[in-house]
Amino acid sequence: MWIGIDDTDSPAGMCTTYIGAVLVRRLAQVGMRILDVRLIRLNPNVIHKTRGNAAVSIEAEGNLETGFRLASTCVEELAEFDAPATNPGVAVSRLRPPPDFYRAALREFCTVEEAIEVLESVGARYRGYKNRRGLIGATAAIASDLPDRTYELLAYRKQERWGAPRQVDRASFFCAEEATYPRTWDTVDRANDVVVCVPHTPDPVLFGIRGESPAWVREARTYVVAEEPACEQVYATNQGTDAHLAPGTVGELREGRSYLVRGTVAGPAVTGVGGHVSFPLVDEEGEVRCMAYEPTKGFRDVVRALVPGDGVAVAGSYKGGSLNLEKIGICRLADTVRIHPPLCPVCGRRMTSAGAGKGYKCRVCSERSREPEVEQVERRISPGWYEVPPTARRHLARPLVRGVPAWEEAVLRSGGECGREPGQVK
Ligand code: ATP
Repeated sequence: MWIGIDDTDSPAGMCTTYIGAVLVRRLAQVGMRILDVRLIRLNPNVIHKTRGNAAVSIEAEGNLETGFRLASTCVEELAEFDAPATNPGVAVSRLRPPPDFYRAALREFCTVEEAIEVLESVGARYRGYKNRRGLIGATAAIASDLPDRTYELLAYRKQERWGAPRQVDRASFFCAEEATYPRTWDTVDRANDVVVCVPHTPDPVLFGIRGESPAWVREARTYVVAEEPACEQVYATNQGTDAHLAPGTVGELREGRSYLVRGTVAGPAVTGVGGHVSFPLVDEEGEVRCMAYEPTKGFRDVVRALVPGDGVAVAGSYKGGSLNLEKIGICRLADTVRIHPPLCPVCGRRMTSAGAGKGYKCRVCSERSREPEVEQVERRISPGWYEVPPTARRHLARPLVRGVPAWEEAVLRSGGECGREPGQVK
């Protein structure tokens, strides 16, 4: 059976993945075999999310009624029912719902009624609490397919420590990254000297290590020195896969969806209030503002180095009229030149303008010339892909260290004239 859970936490505490970890142990205690445990991220632009719009799915072998009873009990015991925006959902099914609902919840907006329709169609047992919104995530989680998957090891704190400062040895996370990168990633942000994998919220998570296999996240974990956890769970996830991105054009952008769009830089990047940097991007259909927010730190320098005419592909969510950048591929760099009056061919002095459209004149020997001196300005950037640093990375965004999928390369090159070798990553 597949067991889905969602919407159990609030900004004040709890985490749906923790309930998942507790449930895994209770299912095992009654003799069930656990086949798969998933942490599934859904549309990051959903306004009702507490933090990262996560839901959990557990595949287990055993009696469905027992599974449903244990899952409901776990949620009833642990969910933050008093928080107004917490609306838990539990769904248990012998048949896996078709992945279409998962894909819709990942990229679009869904309703509780749509989730219930899917659950009814597979004869699932389900329970939605309060306004039942959690059924959307619970259904999407059990319907998830993971053509590309990564793993996360989550360590949870003992209950008596929830809310207290986390006792962790900062340096040990840098050692873990040093020893296992690029098989694991986003444990720390070396450029910005930040430990990324330890949350600062009052939930039960102690730290989370992301990587390409259960073995690698466990290996990284061995380097971590921290307070003794209550338990640890390795999840298969859609994190770091770009599963939220769809290929798009400027004309078809819709609020709250995430895209990869090919276009041309249409104006210089501008740094606004708060250090946010933006530039206009055009394609045949129109223009959209691309934003690199202040937390994206050094990534903004990449954006600032763009000039009109550069051919790029931009990835990010479309919100409030802007595409909020997660990464950018540069396919073609526009020629940038500076025009100077030429040197006099007779006396070698710098000529001056003879007036609009009249070419140049030497003030020393009166020689004339029509052609200016054209200086190629060296670009501070080269073709390739660039991404926000780990501190600013969204859960679903695929780190460049995992490579760029063929479809994204195809979007980048769809504008033609790429001045780069395929597969080159900067
Ligand atoms: P945490 O990750 O810490 O458990 P969260 O950030 O996942 O918290 P939730 O408390 O689960 O946030 O709230 C997200 C809510 O949005 C859930 O009720 C979920 O069912 C719902 N939801 C998820 N995806 C969609 C979607 N695409 N359309 C509409 N509702 C959605």
